[in-house]
Amino acid sequence: MERRFLGKTAVVTGAGNGIGLATARRLQAEGAEVLSVDWNADYLADCAAPKLTIDLADDDAPARIITAAKAQFGTVDMLINNAGVAGPKTLADSSDALIDHVMGINVRAAMRLTRDMLPHLTKPGGCIVNVCSVFGEIGFPNTAPYAASKGALSQLTRQLAADLSADGIRVNGVAPGVINTPIVAERIASDAWYRRAMIETTPIRRVGTAEDVAGGILFLCGPDAQFITGHILNIDGGWLAARVAP
Ligand code: ADP
Repeated sequence: MERRFLGKTAVVTGAGNGIGLATARRLQAEGAEVLSVDWNADYLADCAAPKLTIDLADDDAPARIITAAKAQFGTVDMLINNAGVAGPKTLADSSDALIDHVMGINVRAAMRLTRDMLPHLTKPGGCIVNVCSVFGEIGFPNTAPYAASKGALSQLTRQLAADLSADGIRVNGVAPGVINTPIVAERIASDAWYRRAMIETTPIRRVGTAEDVAGGILFLCGPDAQFITGHILNIDGGWLAARVAP
């Protein structure tokens, strides 16, 4: 195992499960100290300390996360905005509550935490990785609020790359395709159309894993990506890039 992140510090949101958990574990395995943040205390039970149970929608969530991070390790080298919620609905079927929830966690909470974290990120050398989605990059049926939220997160990534480069902070994103995490597994199991639309049209004919995505996130944080900012790395088995013959 490489030790690319020895002496580095990270805050990972949504670290209790799926992509966030795999990312926190890989970072720890490669030497980083990681503050794992999730609202689900049961998920966090399996995570290594330090950890913080918090709903990112709470007004004081950024302040509490920053207080915990500063108490643990002073400055923060890596912020991984991974916490997210799904919203597999057409816009016509989306209630105000669903729209507010999806935009509230996937966009507003990520923006607020990032904004408030900026003074505490290592300068130069800090980095941010946003967990976006293939659905933020292309139109796809029945996913309007989620896709809009992830599109906003992708654009926030590019925007912040422009704004923060002067401080030596890089900002990138990953766009996972069909990844076998709970958020997707539930839909794969319950929706045959989705199964066909996602798996049978993925050039690398398998479902991705949380570890596949964690590997990309670590690359973007690490020493081999020091000239990369404003980039959204598709981790999707080729789904966005290539059509598959029927
Ligand atoms: P994926 O790993 O595919 O992105 P998951 O549902 O497995 O999807 O992971 C999303 C993570 O984000 C979960 O651990 C979930 O508990 C966390 N999360 C979702 N909403 C919030 C929130 N409001 N506050 C903190 N964490 C959240």
